[in-house]
Amino acid sequence: MMQTPLTMTQMMKRAELYFPKKQVISRTASGIHRFTYKQIAERTKRLADSLTKLGIEKGDKVGTLAWNHHRHLEAYFAIPCMNAVLHTINIRLSPQHISYIINHAEDKVLLVDPDILPLLEKCGSELKTVKAFIVMTDDNELPETTLSPVYHYEKLLTEANPNYHFPENINENDPAGMCYTSATTGNPKGVIYTHRGIVLHSLALGLADGGGISERDIAMPVVPMFHVNAWGIPFAGVWFGSTLVLPGPYFTPKLLAELIETEKVTITAGVPTIWLGLLKELESGSWDMGSLRAVLCGGSAAPKGMIKTFEQKYNIPFKHAYGMTETSPLALISTLKSYQEELDPEEKLELRSKQGTLVPGLEMKIVGKDGEVAWDGKEMGELCLRGPWIASKYYKDERTLDAFHDGWLHTGDVVSIDEEGFVKIVDRTKDLIKSGGEWISSVDLENALMAHEAVFEAAVVAVPHDQWQERPFACVVLKETFKGKTTKGELLDFLKPQFAKWWIPDDILFLEEIPKTSVGKFLKRTLREQVQKEVHK
Ligand code: AMP
Repeated sequence: MMQTPLTMTQMMKRAELYFPKKQVISRTASGIHRFTYKQIAERTKRLADSLTKLGIEKGDKVGTLAWNHHRHLEAYFAIPCMNAVLHTINIRLSPQHISYIINHAEDKVLLVDPDILPLLEKCGSELKTVKAFIVMTDDNELPETTLSPVYHYEKLLTEANPNYHFPENINENDPAGMCYTSATTGNPKGVIYTHRGIVLHSLALGLADGGGISERDIAMPVVPMFHVNAWGIPFAGVWFGSTLVLPGPYFTPKLLAELIETEKVTITAGVPTIWLGLLKELESGSWDMGSLRAVLCGGSAAPKGMIKTFEQKYNIPFKHAYGMTETSPLALISTLKSYQEELDPEEKLELRSKQGTLVPGLEMKIVGKDGEVAWDGKEMGELCLRGPWIASKYYKDERTLDAFHDGWLHTGDVVSIDEEGFVKIVDRTKDLIKSGGEWISSVDLENALMAHEAVFEAAVVAVPHDQWQERPFACVVLKETFKGKTTKGELLDFLKPQFAKWWIPDDILFLEEIPKTSVGKFLKRTLREQVQKEVHK
């Protein structure tokens, strides 16, 4: 067979050639904008030309601090296709961490949204390598800023060459993108994505049993474009000619419902917190969600009760998936096998709430205390992955050795696997509750609590215990109408028939909100400290 390079250059080219009329619908601070792929392709060339004029060369890093919108999409293609490296920066990190990653990546140019400028200004004097800032504003004039030199995105594009030629000699193993993942302690760790990895991962997103993204889709990634490339949806969507809906800054559940209804979104993707918010909106308003064929949910465990409400109450198909920054991210997806459709609804729900089976193209092993675990749904071990879209190291970071050895990525996720190969994430290694030498899954308890009608959100953490080393402690946010009514006793009684006695949390703390990480996951470290204080009151 021929050895043609798997590079991203083919993606936008294909959209331009075959789908010039299809649209990118983009929400920015000034409202909704509609562009055709013909226009987006031309703007992408203009951006690449502007970056070349600003001195960007092969291998240079260009950072973005931006929401999901068309200009960010243009950067997604212009930068890798000119053989530079697209560095998407998580705007929810602290200024210290943002400065660290910009310096560590050695970004030469930064593309920034106007509302994120104040955050970047806080890093200003710390930035060692940045030569230029480009503001992606809708206004004709640049906002005032202490940063310098600053360029106006649209003015640069107007002056640029619309016929810029992307280089044709890109090596498929060249870096195309990079993203930093927050570590529990210390600085964030960088992961480099190659052209080859992105192309193969995009194919996996298109598989009928994977994401199933196709030309017919109207895809709305709600997951930020600064979090693992919005799970790769912009790459796959452009390549396949799907319509993209990019929801922009500061969206609310109401706005998402509005976009789904008016733009007839067929597939959308985000973390469970987003979908809990949307459910709340659906419960209070009257929305037409009939166009949705899939809600992709990952990043943390999707509560069973939530999947049930989406599917049974609102008739919206739900797809639970698993991945991490290090895995591009798609690794597991919970799609039922044909013969499992015959199971009764509760059994199906149980399977669908697992993270699912391995996506074709990847390899997996699950290593427990005594070697690889049995496929019995009970034994627990650490999930290890390898494959063409799994990172092989962290970027210039000695912590590489913790996670990457023997040719595998050691994910730090503790899982079990059943007879059918469905993997269930039991916990992060560090979040497991180790009680009397046995393991308790915080995720299982959280899911069970969130299935109670009064519970909006629940997180379970370990508290140190003299006799048992650790015991589970639950933190619960009640739904508005149940506040002051539902008691701890009721919730504990609800759990008792479902778990062994020693799994039942020692206590429950009612909170107004569960603290979350920059990407919307439960911030267990903060929660543990909060609970500690409560226990010692
Ligand atoms: P990140 O790199 O920020 O995307 O975080 C990756 C981590 O999120 C994984 O190692 C898991 O611990 C967790 N995670 C991702 N997807 C799921 C899921 N569907 N269920 C449970 N945990 C998940």
